Amino acid sequence: MVHSIEVRKTYKYRLYRCDKRDQHLHRQINIAGTVFNHALALQKRYYRLTGNYIPLGQLKAHVAKLRRETERYAYWKQLGSQAVQDVLERLDDGYQRFFKQLAKRPPKYKKMRQRQSFTLKQAGYKLLDGNQIKIGRYVYKFVKHREMHGTVKTVTIKRDAAHRLWLLFSVVEEIDMPKQVTTGQIAGFDFGLKTFLTDHNGKQYISGLYHLHALRRLRVIQSRKDKKPHGTNNRKKAAKLIARTHIRVADKRRDAHYKLAHDLCAAFDVLCFEDLKIDGMKRLWGRKVSDLAFTQFMSIVKHVANVRGKEVCVISRWERTTGKCSCCGHVQAMELRERTFHCDSCGLILDRDHNAAINIMRAGASAQTNRETVSRVRETTRSLV
Ligand SMILES: [Zn+2]
Repeated sequence: MVHSIEVRKTYKYRLYRCDKRDQHLHRQINIAGTVFNHALALQKRYYRLTGNYIPLGQLKAHVAKLRRETERYAYWKQLGSQAVQDVLERLDDGYQRFFKQLAKRPPKYKKMRQRQSFTLKQAGYKLLDGNQIKIGRYVYKFVKHREMHGTVKTVTIKRDAAHRLWLLFSVVEEIDMPKQVTTGQIAGFDFGLKTFLTDHNGKQYISGLYHLHALRRLRVIQSRKDKKPHGTNNRKKAAKLIARTHIRVADKRRDAHYKLAHDLCAAFDVLCFEDLKIDGMKRLWGRKVSDLAFTQFMSIVKHVANVRGKEVCVISRWERTTGKCSCCGHVQAMELRERTFHCDSCGLILDRDHNAAINIMRAGASAQTNRETVSRVRETTRSLV
């Protein structure tokens, strides 16, 4: 039986440069930013005066009226109405996340030179033959380095920090699940600063510190930029080079994360990780935590597991995993700098991360069996009803 699932996927393509036509896209991107900032200012002022929040519907109506009836904002019409609505929805989304305490801060103003984008739904674009797309009145070419599959839901035109333009197609794609290769293996992993991951067998997975490695080069090009006078083309060029270097660092890191996630999903069926308190770790260890990008790795591994029919199990951070003996279950205090676990009760000596990974795997396995029992109980009760 071939089993297929629907996944949301993004295809990203670079647009060919054409200064003459690109300016139209840059202008629309700038307008999207202006609309965002305008609406954000409105929300802030409204809140100061009344203590309330403008609902999305009202905000959309207000902005639509500004576009239609005022001379001053008539140029906003250069950006399609769907794209304008999308900008307001994104702002609303940011606020909703803040209200639900999913985000720590309300949305911030966008800087005009920052990377930015606008999104089109059904209207405003048309895919032409080959590698061409019509956006508004103009036809653009993009580097079609891979075939696109699925149904296109939205198209986002994005400008990155190095001022390059990209097309992002968000599609819904039906993928056939690969023939279920079950390994029957469950694994526990502990994150660490020295070794990125340690599994329950004591195997270590190292992650490159991509930012750290690029640091010397970044300092050189940064100082070169600082020597150029303000407002000159040379300074702008130097700034672009810095931005490109940062983007390359992030690309390399993401690529390595995908590779590792695929390797782990090939070797194991159930992958257990600990829920990390990233903010606290950042305060303790600083830049290195950001460079390792644990959070990004977790979301990648979850995605890859989903597509490959594997499972990721996240253990609650209240579960004791570091100071607990994986052999006899004895719990003892453990300092951060202690790299080996030495059990006071049974005398077990094991690497700190290895010991934790075993505990994480056990916690995951018991959560797994609990859930299986629960679902089995549910099934039997359902059949009784
Ligand atoms: Zn012990």
